[in-house]
Amino acid sequence: MADSYRFFDVVVKRRVVLSPSMVRFVFTGEDVGGMTFPGPDQRIKMFFPEIAGQKPEIPRGSDWIAQFRALDDVAKPAMRTYTIRALRSGETEVDIDFAVHGSIGPASRWALEAGEGDPMVLYAPTEAALDDPRGYEWHPPEGVDRVLILADESALPAVASIVDHIAASSARPRIDALIEVPTEADAVPLSPLEGLSVHWLPRDGGQDYGQRLLEALRGIPLPTSGQNDALPDVDVDNDILWEQASGGETTFYAWIAGEAAAVLDIRRHLVNERGVDRKAMNLMGYWRKGRSLD
Ligand SMILES: Cc1cc2nc3c(=O)[nH]c(=O)nc-3n(C[C@H](O)[C@H](O)[C@H](O)COP(=O)(O)OP(=O)(O)OC[C@H]3O[C@@H](n4cnc5c(N)ncnc54)[C@H](O)[C@@H]3O)c2cc1C
Repeated sequence: MADSYRFFDVVVKRRVVLSPSMVRFVFTGEDVGGMTFPGPDQRIKMFFPEIAGQKPEIPRGSDWIAQFRALDDVAKPAMRTYTIRALRSGETEVDIDFAVHGSIGPASRWALEAGEGDPMVLYAPTEAALDDPRGYEWHPPEGVDRVLILADESALPAVASIVDHIAASSARPRIDALIEVPTEADAVPLSPLEGLSVHWLPRDGGQDYGQRLLEALRGIPLPTSGQNDALPDVDVDNDILWEQASGGETTFYAWIAGEAAAVLDIRRHLVNERGVDRKAMNLMGYWRKGRSLD
């Protein structure tokens, strides 16, 4: 059977500054034409060298993960998760948007330093992944008419792509998108879409991650189910917060991603205080403040 994911060797074709905190890299490579974009919040792995401009060396082959883990730390590029923002197979171009947060992480540092011609390795979907729903979480059930999206800047590329995806479909649910960004200037407009209300929430340096999302969420009327079981706790410092919606008959769907402790607070609010159906929610810790997520 063909592999759903494989390595793509690419180089930076363009670096575009979208806002003070968001940078887009347009990558190109001969075989990008063989890459696919199965779901709008499609995740991929990227491999960051110590210094931008170096080619990240990754063991290839079917047991590459075991070999990669066995590399000593000096030789091992940093593996991080990113989202395909757009794929133009015909032009062999793929866009990845980075929320830059200074030089403390290898990915953010690379995004601040890299330029045209710099090599990168992506582990991304192939044609065989088109039937594989496991690399993305946007799976609203048929007939959804009300959508709640909450995100910080790390999940903004996924949100922008979800909005593009809905715009290209015939569905027109009512959507509230609450998006926390570092500054007002980071509110890069989403594609226009009937039924979409975007609430930009700049932290402007003053507030902790998720605080503005929670405040804004309190003002959004939501459907309640009243049928949730007791909420198990998640230790976001040692475990990944990743809960997938499990459908049901609901016409409501929520997609929530960002800093893990912030997503946990939002989960508590939605389930315990608001009685929103947990089965209708995707809750995803995209990163954890103070920790490196390899
Ligand atoms: C499914 C998925 C999709 C993702 N898609 C994207 C995407 O398209 N674009 C994107 O920018 N990010 C995305 N992320 C988040 C990204 O993987 C993390 O932010 C990652 O930790 C960045 O790696 P780093 O090497 O810069 O920092 P790390 O080495 O992981 O961390 C170093 C320090 O930086 C802090 N840090 C990490 N990320 C952030 C942040 N965003 N803001 C502030 N501080 C941070 C950490 O808490 C730590 O203290 C995604 C994550 C997941 C799980």
